[in-house]
Amino acid sequence: MKPAPFDYRRPATKAEALRLLSDHRDDDAKILAGGQSLVPMMNFRMAQPTVIIDINLLSDLAFVEERGECIAIGALTRHNDVMRHPLVGAHVPLLAMAYENVAHHTIRNRGTIGGNVVHADAASEVPAVLTALDAEFVIESTEGVRVVGADDFFLGVFTTAVETHELLVEIRIPRPNARAGVSFEEVSLRKGDFAIVSVAVEIAADDGQIESARIAIGGVEERALRAEAAEQALVGASLSDDVIQAAAAAQIDAISFFDAPGLSAAYRRDTAKALLERNIRAAAARAGRMN
Ligand SMILES: Cc1cc2nc3c(=O)[nH]c(=O)nc-3n(C[C@H](O)[C@H](O)[C@H](O)COP(=O)(O)OP(=O)(O)OC[C@H]3O[C@@H](n4cnc5c(N)ncnc54)[C@H](O)[C@@H]3O)c2cc1C
Repeated sequence: MKPAPFDYRRPATKAEALRLLSDHRDDDAKILAGGQSLVPMMNFRMAQPTVIIDINLLSDLAFVEERGECIAIGALTRHNDVMRHPLVGAHVPLLAMAYENVAHHTIRNRGTIGGNVVHADAASEVPAVLTALDAEFVIESTEGVRVVGADDFFLGVFTTAVETHELLVEIRIPRPNARAGVSFEEVSLRKGDFAIVSVAVEIAADDGQIESARIAIGGVEERALRAEAAEQALVGASLSDDVIQAAAAAQIDAISFFDAPGLSAAYRRDTAKALLERNIRAAAARAGRMN
């Protein structure tokens, strides 16, 4: 299939991109970043934008930087550049771990973190990590800048807080507690596929006592789910297998799992429970040490 006809714009500056987005706010305009999700959707005619605004000349939107208590990542940073960046390895190892499961090398060379999160596939790994880590999203338009937390950014399947006249410019991830251990794992049909279920865990513990727990589950609801029931069961508890199993069970009881063709709700529930227990255990074992 070939896409429906569209106008093509390639702004050289962010200001020009924002102006184009504003001018075309009532047309069906779409940003083109890596094109790894948008172009297939256009080829299948699931998306038929009338104007494409290609942001690939905006190299100032491709960066990974230390910003006080945050690691800031530009929206146009390619997946592989995020995954391999030393700051990400040192301060956001959960993201680097999750990226091992995102698509394939060639797709990660072109796809961007901004495109990934705005595409907002419910089974995507990066949104699960950013939900667990309380990331913030910097969104710009000709009307100004706003900063939105993960809970208000991911709204549902293929839906985020970014409006048609807005550009996601940056993602800010707070540095984790220095005593934190992390773990990410997913079950998918084949390596490189979207997850059936994924679990991202960051746990800080001191002397066997759990200080903090940040956990998200992908693939079980319309957006990555913050595992608040499990977090509450863990924080303040002494680490033991009984505590981990009770935390996972409390979380699983709080989710309404859905049936999908070839994939029963029971399978998804059992997978989520097993992944939760395994990743809480692995993150806790790493807490207080290098990941
Ligand atoms: C075979 C295959 C396997 C894949 N497997 C996985 C996987 O396992 N896990 C996974 O997470 N992803 C997977 N992907 C998707 C991949 O990660 C994409 O790169 C990503 O989802 C989209 O990023 P992009 O830069 O290519 O965005 P594009 O395709 O260019 O854009 C995607 C959407 O985001 C919008 N957009 C892009 N950038 C901005 C911005 N800065 N501000 C506002 N709107 C913006 C676009 O308008 C469009 O609506 C796979 C893709 C393929 C082709």
